[in-house]
This record gives sequence, structure tokens and C-alpha cells, in this order.
Amino acid sequence: MTDNIIELVGIKKCFDGEAVVEDFNLTVKRGEFVTLLGPSGCGKTTTLRMIAGFELPTEGKILLNGEDISGLPPYKRSINTVFQRYALFPHLNVYENIAFGLKLKKLEKKEIVDKVAKVLDVVDMEGFEKRRISTLSGGQQQRIAIARAIVNEPEILLLDEPLGALDLKMRKEMQLELMEMQHNLGITFIYVTHDQEEALTMSDKIVVMANGRIQQTGTPEKIYNEPSNAFVADFIGESNIFNGTMTGLLKVTFCDAEFECLDNYPRGTKLDVVVRPEDIFFNDLSVTKPSSAGQLTGEVISVVFKGIHYEITVQCGKNEVVIQRTRSANVGDTVEMYIEPDAIHCMPCDTLVNSFEGEITKHNMVEFGDGEYECDVTMLYPGSHIDEDGYVVTGDGERIDVRGIRVNVEIPVEAISMSDDQEGTRACGNIINLIYKGDHYNYLIKTDNGFEYVLDDEYLWNENDYVSIIIPKEAIKLTMNTEGTVN
Ligand code: ATP
Repeated sequence: MTDNIIELVGIKKCFDGEAVVEDFNLTVKRGEFVTLLGPSGCGKTTTLRMIAGFELPTEGKILLNGEDISGLPPYKRSINTVFQRYALFPHLNVYENIAFGLKLKKLEKKEIVDKVAKVLDVVDMEGFEKRRISTLSGGQQQRIAIARAIVNEPEILLLDEPLGALDLKMRKEMQLELMEMQHNLGITFIYVTHDQEEALTMSDKIVVMANGRIQQTGTPEKIYNEPSNAFVADFIGESNIFNGTMTGLLKVTFCDAEFECLDNYPRGTKLDVVVRPEDIFFNDLSVTKPSSAGQLTGEVISVVFKGIHYEITVQCGKNEVVIQRTRSANVGDTVEMYIEPDAIHCMPCDTLVNSFEGEITKHNMVEFGDGEYECDVTMLYPGSHIDEDGYVVTGDGERIDVRGIRVNVEIPVEAISMSDDQEGTRACGNIINLIYKGDHYNYLIKTDNGFEYVLDDEYLWNENDYVSIIIPKEAIKLTMNTEGTVN
């Protein structure tokens, strides 16, 4: 028997032609506790529903113990699901709720009684058989929902935000109980949450998702300590994310200072540099003398008490640096900061350009993404100019009708901007993700037509804000699409 109980291979799911899960590949080992983690709408529930059989993948295969179950109905899969709304039958008592599935399977009464007693013991609810559902607390209902799922002895239990309706204290208790239960039963758990702390606490493996795609798969430690991109770093725990550049062997520059690090990329590589707030040490220069270890200086601009630690924000040139420590500081203090090499995590930048395929429609217009934009087609033919009839004339005097030429369009992230004025703008859409990067915010915007743009802005906008994207003529870089055709 294969070690992998579930494999998702090249899964894609579309609703109304739009992909909500894409390029999804995952293997789950027998007995593993795997968590799908990501913001609302990223496709976690859809993925879970495909594993359960409530949705069919548009593309790709789902294997259970090596066998393709993609087309099997839910009841033929040895998989059970616990939903956030427990979906217990309110008119039945606890015993009848748990026994429901066993009665359908036509098991002997004695066997049903034994099995129900056993699972009530597992969820620590012995003696509750006769209680009506409405008389149970949220936590108790949650346990009964789990009991009802595990009484069928599934190979896999899918849990969709099962603790979402509980208060914080109860949620923390249930997290530990679920982990223990999973350990004792040896059932594979696939768990969905948008709560990063819950995922870090409970899982053997976390799958971080955004916009229907896996961003990173790994152990909680790996995901926290070595996030693979700025999204993961921002989503998991608190982070400082700075724009950096590799300046030499194991040397990186950010916040206008050079630091030693343990990551190596070619000199000049542009990076997102992640430093966790608890990994920045500082001396208050009003109390201590400057030391040779100090790498950055700045002024404290805010101090917030967070219970276990203080969150201290320091203005350091154009960057804001967030630090956590158990001792407080005073707003206005000048401080000196120090970061150990192993606390500096460097990741090559995700996107510095927005790329599209397009077509030249007139000598000064290109169509791509959401519409037609003014452009300079002479960049396709170095040394060329446009004559009075609108033809491109090359340096050799050849006249070219550029209409219909297929091109690659590249727009640097820093060359475009956004506005809340939609008048006359072609590309309008919602902000679907934002990341603070020390001295600016990095935004991902999905337009009404489904195109994605990345851009930087110094101001804070909110997720879901509806904005227009301003693409100046100078921002549009054209190259020939060699696979394209000339009409
Ligand atoms: P949440 O944490 O809010 O439950 P999620 O990560 O579980 O979010 P999904 O419920 O999987 O996200 O939804 C992913 C996307 O698919 C959303 O944009 C949602 O509106 C869309 N979607 C889900 N089910 C359907 C459906 N039956 N028809 C059309 N669109 C759907």
C-alpha cells in the first residue's frame, strides 16, 4: 500500500469559466494532519469539497490509496466531513445523531450501541446519549459532530473551520483535544482554517493558499522561518518586509544599510527581505552608548502593549521597522538596532513586471488585458519612426504596417498607479491582496475581466477597495512576440 493516502494531481476547478483553484498538487501521508490555510475566498473549501466528492475537478485527478476517485460520489469514498455549522439533526438526541449513519448501513443494534458509546468516550461526552442537541453548548455540539463523523471509521476526516463558531478560549481547548484525538485514532485529518495561529499549532503540514494557488507547502516551522514569498511571510505571523538588493557574497542591503545574511543570490538580485519583529534587538541611545554592533538607527514612533510583549515601531529613514520585546520604550527615543545574520531571510522578488500578450491595433495603440492603450511602437524596430500615413519606417527605409502584430507587453510595477476615479479608465477592479513593505504597500488587483496587476503605492488602501489602474504610455514596454503572426 502506498504511503500517500491522498494525492491531488494538477487540480483545477472553474465556476462559470473562472478558475477558483488552479495548478494544485498535494500529497497527504497516512495519519498526517494537513491544514489548508489562506484568506477568505482563496479556494480552501472548494478544494476540500473536491476531496469529499461534493464538487468534481474541472481538470486533474484525486487519488485515494493510489486509486483514481475523481468521479466517485461522496458516499463511495471512505472520507467524512465536519463542517463549521455542525449540521446536527436538532430533533434527534445525541445518540440518534451519532447512530444515524450506522442505522442506514443496517448494522445490528448491539453493534450500534457499542460504537456510539466508544466514540462518545473518544470525544469525552460519555453519558450524553439522551440529551437534545439544543441543550448542548457550542463546544459540545462540535464534539458530537466529530463523534458522528468518526463513528463511520473513515480513513480521512475533512474538517472545514470546525472551531470557527467557538469563542477563543474554547477554540484553544478544542485545538489541543482535536490534535490528541487525531493522534489516538490515527485518522488522516485535512483541516481548513484562515487562522494562522491555529494552523501553526495543530498541523504536521501546512498548505498556504492565495487566489486559488498553493503559495507554499511545509511544516509549520519551515513556513514560519523560511517563507517562500512575501505573501506567506506577511500572512504567517508578524513580519517586516523590506526591499533589498544582494550586494556581495552573503551580503544584503536594505533600509540603506548592509547586513550579513545566510542566503546567497547573484550580486544585484532584487529581494524581499523578511525580518521577524522578535528578531530585532535594540539599544535605547538615551540610556546606552552607541555600540559597534549597531546597524540601523531610528526614532521610536509608537509603542503598543500587546499582553506578552510591546510592539515598538521605529522610523528608520523612509522605512518603518516593527520590533517586539518584553521591555517598553518611549516615543521619541533614538534607538540603535541590530539583526543577526540568521534572522535575515532573503527571497527573490515575486513580480517586478506585469506581463501580458497583446496586439498592435494602430501605429500608436496596443490592445492587451482590459483594453486598448497608447504606446510607442517604434520600440519594436530600433531606429524607426512613424511617417505621416501611420506606417513605421525602419532605419533601412522599409515601411511596415504594424496593425495585427502580436507583442509581449511588460509594465514595471513601479511605473503604474491606482486611483479611486474610474472615469475613462479601462482597467478597474478590486484589491485582492496587500503587503506592507517597510516604506510602501504592494498591491495585487484583479480587474473585472479577471486580469491581475501588481503595483506599489505609498498610501494604505483596503482589501476589496474598487480602484482603476493608471497605465501611462511610457510604462508600456513592447517586444515582438515571436510566436505571433503578422496579419
Ligand atoms: P472562506 O474561508 O471564506 O470559506 P475559501 O478559501 O474556503 O473561503 P471557497 O469557498 O473555496 O474559498 O471559494 C473560492 C471562490 O470560489 C470564491 O470566490 C467563491 O465565491 C467561489 N465559489 C465557491 N463555490 C462556488 C459556486 N458553487 N459557484 C460559483 N462560485 C463559487
